[in-house]
Amino acid sequence: MKGLYIHIPFCESICHYCDFVKRVPRNQEMIDTYIGALINEISSYRDHFSTIETIYIGGGTPSMLSVDQFKRLFDSLIDIKPLEYTVEVNPESYTDEKGELFKKYGINRISLGVQTFNPTLLNYLNRKHTNEHVIHVVNHLKSIGIPYISVDLIYSIPGQTLNDLRIDLEYIKKLDITHVSCYSLILEEKTYFYHQYLRGKFETMDEDTEATMYQIVMDELKNQGFEHYEISNYAKNQHYSKHNLLYWTLGEYIGVGLGAHGLVGNKRTYNHKALPKYLVSPLDRAEIQSPESLLQDELIFGLRKIEGVSISELEEKYSFKLLEKYPSLKEKMEIGLVKIDEGRLKLTDKGIFLGNQVFMVFI
Ligand code: SF4
Repeated sequence: MKGLYIHIPFCESICHYCDFVKRVPRNQEMIDTYIGALINEISSYRDHFSTIETIYIGGGTPSMLSVDQFKRLFDSLIDIKPLEYTVEVNPESYTDEKGELFKKYGINRISLGVQTFNPTLLNYLNRKHTNEHVIHVVNHLKSIGIPYISVDLIYSIPGQTLNDLRIDLEYIKKLDITHVSCYSLILEEKTYFYHQYLRGKFETMDEDTEATMYQIVMDELKNQGFEHYEISNYAKNQHYSKHNLLYWTLGEYIGVGLGAHGLVGNKRTYNHKALPKYLVSPLDRAEIQSPESLLQDELIFGLRKIEGVSISELEEKYSFKLLEKYPSLKEKMEIGLVKIDEGRLKLTDKGIFLGNQVFMVFI
């Protein structure tokens, strides 16, 4: 199975926490030119089309494309018959017409960037939508028969209270969707928040409150019938993100678009992040991965899944013995961060929150 990731690097405004590859476009011509280059890059992978099972159009803000720009892009993908076809949507740039186009072209999963339902916090993050937008998008997607809807949330936003978070999770319950991705706010360099932090105007949340919030998210979503299947991801009725599972299981995926990366065979590809360079030639570099680095990735990404990794499968694939190669793993077991359960290495409940301490063992 193979995935295709397509990056749309344009946003109407820049969120204060965001370090993704994105920019505010100068005009529509800039987007049109980009779509032309993207379609050329997509067609260079035509030989792989028959093996692609997931398409994920992410960003940036894909939903800010016009209907005509979407049509050009979707037409270039028409020969691919994916099982899962996702488009990321920001609520304020969704229109019913775009939703109907998604339906027509077989998009069956929408990932909706909500982050929080608290208007003050949305404003603090520099998000531009309202709760009315979100409710309209979800209702419309359901009415036209898009079956899988995921909502992105962020917690541990400075100023957010435990009650604010509980209210966000109440909204999730009312929306009755199939999937939630919920990440803690990370202070990334080169963001507005980071500049505020350097000037003493941004205070990260204390670890105890962050841990309490994570626990609230896990408990409440479980109460709502979601399965916690990855550190930050929850699904109802096994409607996991097939595309993201490729990343966590080191499956093959092609990455196209500005700054996109891929993993095909044992080669990781990295596209240019600067638009002028991308428009001339998308690929910046391709790096063959050593078995050592693939094993490291399998362990680190694989442990993000709540089911963990099969020790025997990995030992056979990479010809090694887990506890001989990583003796310090035993210490992490002793302090209760990781465990071996029915032949699988997995994070414990405590380790889920402190995963980075376990991942360090493999680096
Ligand atoms: S978080 Fe999403 S919408 Fe906000 S600037 Fe980043 S890519 Fe754009």
